[in-house]
Amino acid sequence: MKYSDRLGKLAPYRFVEISRIIAEKRAAGEDVVTFGIGDPDIPTPSHIIDRLITASWDLPNHRYPESDGLPAMRKAIATWYERRFGVELDPDKEVLPLIGAKEGIGHAAFCYLDPGDIALVPDPAYPVYGVGTMFAGAESYKMPLTEENGWLPDLDAIPAEVADRAKVMWLNYPNNPTGAVAGRDYFEKVIDFARRHDIGVLHDAAYSEVVFDRYRTVSFLELPNARELGIEFHSLSKCFNMTGWRVGMAVGNADMIKALFQIKANLDSGIPQAIQEMAMEALLEPQNPIQENNDLYQRRRHKEIELLKRIGLRVIPPQASLYVWARVPDGFTSAEFAQRLLEETAIVVTPGSSYGQYGEGYIRLSLTTPDEQVDKGVERLASWKMPAPSRS
Ligand SMILES: *Cc1c(COP(=O)(O)O)cnc(C)c1O
Repeated sequence: MKYSDRLGKLAPYRFVEISRIIAEKRAAGEDVVTFGIGDPDIPTPSHIIDRLITASWDLPNHRYPESDGLPAMRKAIATWYERRFGVELDPDKEVLPLIGAKEGIGHAAFCYLDPGDIALVPDPAYPVYGVGTMFAGAESYKMPLTEENGWLPDLDAIPAEVADRAKVMWLNYPNNPTGAVAGRDYFEKVIDFARRHDIGVLHDAAYSEVVFDRYRTVSFLELPNARELGIEFHSLSKCFNMTGWRVGMAVGNADMIKALFQIKANLDSGIPQAIQEMAMEALLEPQNPIQENNDLYQRRRHKEIELLKRIGLRVIPPQASLYVWARVPDGFTSAEFAQRLLEETAIVVTPGSSYGQYGEGYIRLSLTTPDEQVDKGVERLASWKMPAPSRS
């Protein structure tokens, strides 16, 4: 059988070599320290787990959920959003629970894109925006995120004919992988641009709560008129240490939310209800777990930045997200540098190039590495003599 073209179009796994070295080192009993994946190492807060245990005995929770979630769940999301951003949402029209933000982000492409359409996609970026676009048969137009543009797409650099053909624009702030944030003034420009070219804005705010030094992130929907043309994705994964439970939400423009519901209703049956109860617990109870997490990540951020600086890398301290983004020394590609680091110190970092061509020249370190591992990494690197680039 010949498999679908879309399977063939998925990027080949580029880090075969790095994975092979990790496996080899682990097999040889070496303690590999990984700053690779962004997946909180801290357990889900106990009051949230307790709620799951109680909810799991409740018989209605054993049956099919609704694709658009429990009414109380949609209400809890609206309440949280109002408390957090001061934005009022209609729980029945402007809120849609998701089986993790990733699920909604992937399915969104099927709502808004047809073959031949264009989606504006940042580069470097979380891969799902581009993959969803490709699955829907549409094309991604890459918007470079660079140090010069502050990791914010330069809207004036998008050719008018591309902008006119584009149906949607993906944005993600706080940003993965660069750690950049976007303020009101940038979102105002986005709204103006989107209005002029009739573009739907899809803002992925999965890291809205993961901030340092009490930085306050802006919701896209806080901007006047945003609701006319965009939706925002949120996730409980990163801020409540709930990656394993799969809960997120989309909020915003009622028509765009309805379209996403129509696609979802034909593909999935919603979030297991006991897990929706966990989410309600997380959203409605005091938010101190978020602050505690952020304090911890901030200490790790400090250690990682000091470490990277000590070995001569240039780092811009992130104000939010779970990542430190650092420039590799001249003469190395991201992948070469990551590979040398792994071979010589058994430390894993992610090459920036795995997030797109404009990620080349950078590496990403996650802040979800347990403290004792972070300390081990610091020790190892302190005594590492950085190699000269091999192709000089
Ligand atoms: C982790 C992540 C997500 C996925 O969140 P889930 O709710 O766990 O699916 C979405 N967007 C970005 C940018 C992420 O890094």
